Amino acid sequence: MTKKDKPRLERELRFLSEIGAEFIFVPEGKRRPLVKGSGAGLPPSGEKSPGAQVQPKANEDRPEVLQEIAQKILTCALCPLSQSRTNAVPGEGNSRAELMFVGEGPGADEDSQGRPFVGRAGRLLTRIIAAMGYKREDVYITNIVKCRPPKNRTPGREEAEACKPYLIAQIEAIAPRVIVSLGKVATDFFHPSPTGMTKLRGQFVEYGKVLVMPTFHPSYIVRNEGNKELKKLVWQDMKQVMAVLSKK
Ligand code: URA
Repeated sequence: MTKKDKPRLERELRFLSEIGAEFIFVPEGKRRPLVKGSGAGLPPSGEKSPGAQVQPKANEDRPEVLQEIAQKILTCALCPLSQSRTNAVPGEGNSRAELMFVGEGPGADEDSQGRPFVGRAGRLLTRIIAAMGYKREDVYITNIVKCRPPKNRTPGREEAEACKPYLIAQIEAIAPRVIVSLGKVATDFFHPSPTGMTKLRGQFVEYGKVLVMPTFHPSYIVRNEGNKELKKLVWQDMKQVMAVLSKK
């Protein structure tokens, strides 16, 4: 470790401890298994998620395909959100990512920069990604709707429907192994249900061949900053994701 690395490592340690991830420092032989088998939390076999129409396929031209999708999003006028946006926000990251994060929709910072999760919630998401052992560039980050809903309201059903083909196409192009759905709007895309996030989080659901882990939205954690329990729950969910991806 160089002198330059020290502050970064110290920040990382503080964050890991803050979100209840001290387990990382347990000596290797003494760690408890993170989940019982990689299928933990899956619905019984044969029971498919209602949204399971995507069969991801390996795509050799993934960057080009993603670029084409992004071009369409940037000029999209399929719903009224296109009229109030500054920039559409297609998403960003690794076209071969094994892990994808899907949020709700761009906020003010994202709308002005054209990039997903770059505001306060985004900084928290970036720290979670780092704590999982990834860089932002290793994963793919996008949203259910690609244009900012005015005053950050929840996207309407028709807006989400209009944007749906873009997300499906992104998932098909990237073919991730795991998707983390951030909050109820994203979780409903993969597993529509009247159930709230407190019950849905922490249980994998299947979306085609992709495992989807619902967890709390980073904005919710930011809004409830003093609630350490929430961070611990999110970290428990991420540990399950790491176990599936062998990122222990
Ligand atoms: N919240 C989201 O759901 N997505 C973003 O990109 C930023 C904040």
